[in-house]
Amino acid sequence: MGLTGKSVGKNASRGGEIGKKRDAELLVALAGNPNVGKSTVFNILTGLHQHTGNWTGKTVATAAGYHKKDGKTYQIVDLPGTYSLAAHSAEEEVARDFLCFGGADAVIVVCDATRLCRNLGLVLQILEITPHVLVCVNLLDEAKRGGVSLDLDELERRLGVPVVGTSAGRGEGTAKLIERLAEIGQGNPLPVLYAEPIERAVKALTPYIEPACKGKLSTRYTALRLLENDSAFLKKCDAYLSGSLLTEENLRAAEAARKALSESGITEEVFVTEMASSLMREAERTSAAVVKNTRKTEGFSRADRILTSKIWGIPAMLLLLAMIFWLTIVGANYPSDWLSTGFHTLEPHLHDLLLRLGLGTFFADMLTYGLYRVVGWIVSVMLPPMAIFFPLFTFLEDVGYLPRVAFNLDGIFSKCSACGKQALSMCMGLGCNAAGVVGTRIIDSKRERLVAILTNNFMPCNGRFPAIITVATIFFSGMTGISSLIVALILAAVIVLGVTVTLLTTKALTSTILRGESSSFILELPPYRRPQLGKILVRSVLDRTVFVLGRAVAVAAPAGVLIYLLSNLEVGGIAITGWLSRFLDPLGCLMGLDGIILLAFLLGLPANEIVLPLCAMLYMSSGTLTEIGNLSLLRDTLAANGWTWMTAVSFILFSVMHWPCSTTLITIKKETGSWFYMMLSFLLPTLIGIVCCVLFHSIAVLF
Ligand code: GDP
Repeated sequence: MGLTGKSVGKNASRGGEIGKKRDAELLVALAGNPNVGKSTVFNILTGLHQHTGNWTGKTVATAAGYHKKDGKTYQIVDLPGTYSLAAHSAEEEVARDFLCFGGADAVIVVCDATRLCRNLGLVLQILEITPHVLVCVNLLDEAKRGGVSLDLDELERRLGVPVVGTSAGRGEGTAKLIERLAEIGQGNPLPVLYAEPIERAVKALTPYIEPACKGKLSTRYTALRLLENDSAFLKKCDAYLSGSLLTEENLRAAEAARKALSESGITEEVFVTEMASSLMREAERTSAAVVKNTRKTEGFSRADRILTSKIWGIPAMLLLLAMIFWLTIVGANYPSDWLSTGFHTLEPHLHDLLLRLGLGTFFADMLTYGLYRVVGWIVSVMLPPMAIFFPLFTFLEDVGYLPRVAFNLDGIFSKCSACGKQALSMCMGLGCNAAGVVGTRIIDSKRERLVAILTNNFMPCNGRFPAIITVATIFFSGMTGISSLIVALILAAVIVLGVTVTLLTTKALTSTILRGESSSFILELPPYRRPQLGKILVRSVLDRTVFVLGRAVAVAAPAGVLIYLLSNLEVGGIAITGWLSRFLDPLGCLMGLDGIILLAFLLGLPANEIVLPLCAMLYMSSGTLTEIGNLSLLRDTLAANGWTWMTAVSFILFSVMHWPCSTTLITIKKETGSWFYMMLSFLLPTLIGIVCCVLFHSIAVLF
């Protein structure tokens, strides 16, 4: 039976527990090992922009999209990448449960042509769940480059399901995927056979469970799980089969079958090993028959001898980072100036226009000097560095460098009883902490995930970088004439500081409230891949730059109005902001800052990017923002208000170590489901930041 209306009708009534609701004619799941190009295939088929990047574990949740062809609508669900369906990790569980209960009509298993053998392990496991499989052998271009050729007809013959070869990165072969979906279900895949006693036990169980499973779950797969005694999964199956699986009779039969197995020497442990090794042997046999010419492509490349070397790995990482910052700083200067001039020129015209529209002076001032100036500042100061930093960062991600960062830092993290994957969520935090917090989903252990969430804020996000860059430029380059290279090194040092504080806090947390062993994890180093420049640009500019900027503007625009009001409404002859900053002054001075800077940080809770413009605005106490993006005026304003290089250092320290922005806090509440952890994530960096600033200021004053 092919993929016909009949099979759709039959499956349509199945409600997926995990999957997205079916609302198309055909539901197709995309499965595969991590980093095989699944998201790339998904994006081509659906026209969506699911995050792709050359590292393992970035697809942590299912995504769904649609493909329309010849009047049919296909709903495509992208499952998290997994090596197996053993449900050892959250991703494996999500993928397995969707395949079993999601009601998919077809499963496309995407494989990596350069590592076919390992990928076949997953294909064979999925074939145990459903025969409605289409195998997509992707990365054929990479295999070819590595001297590997594959006989896909032979693979198709051996697996008994359709096989399509693709180079999805170049868009080659993907049209064929949908074409051949129609053939799904026509083949007759043979099951992998296990040791004789296991096969006997499956046979013994089949008559008991077949009526319950029929047409809904694979009887063989369910029998194997009963023999394995995977109680959590069996309960889900039972619920899915409306309580007809775990009847007393079936449980007795399963118990007897397990007893017989263990009498033939196959205990529960042996059972699991036997299954895994049989699958592996079959995968090896198939791969040996299909892969024609293997020039070794796996293993360390020449670049890795430096980039992941014990001695050079970390210095090389720092150098790369410094280079990215240098390019960002040098490159952002000119466009920043152009933009700020543009905004500045338009300002009086806008004010005139608002007056002419009859808004009155108060409202015209508020909208021009409150809203427009804050937005103008953010766009001219933030957009250029983001438009340079994000593509460079995405480039490193696409080439496959990010996992090397995790690899280099893994030893250090495990010494802190945490997981090396935390380094990856930290890298994401460099872009946006809310994204970093969501990114911690790649960490399997709940304890280690909490540690990663609570410490993510120590990585300065893109909302904070522009302020740090501006202050560093003004006080360490603009005033002293030191080259921008040194500023870049200072910024790299800021990241090192962030990493160091992360590690120390991690150690403190894992020795106190989040105590436990660090989990073992196999970090996969993907091959370096030629980056796809067009895609990098589109992804980093559209998905990241425009997204972050849009959010910043959306938050800053109302904040601009609020702040305008706070600084223009007076109580007892003093603006409200004046009262607040007076209240904060003693603490601010202790930290080497002042009340106004602290107030700016507080008012910047919705978006860190407005902290520096707020400072300037409050200093000028004109109730309006200082000239947009004009560095020399900003420098004069800050200096006139007592800023020295020490204030700049304290400002940078507190930028790295203070509460997360409101979006990140909400995300933390969502991800942990706990007010306690949300509050802790607020207090922890703030207290550490205050202590660091006070210490630095005291020592600096002393000397
Ligand atoms: P996923 O983890 O399976 O979702 O993998 P992605 O779709 O994120 O792809 C991983 C990396 O492989 C990305 O850098 C892609 O640009 C790259 N990639 C995907 N398909 C191909 C391909 O056919 N050829 C090459 N050379 N690279 C590809």
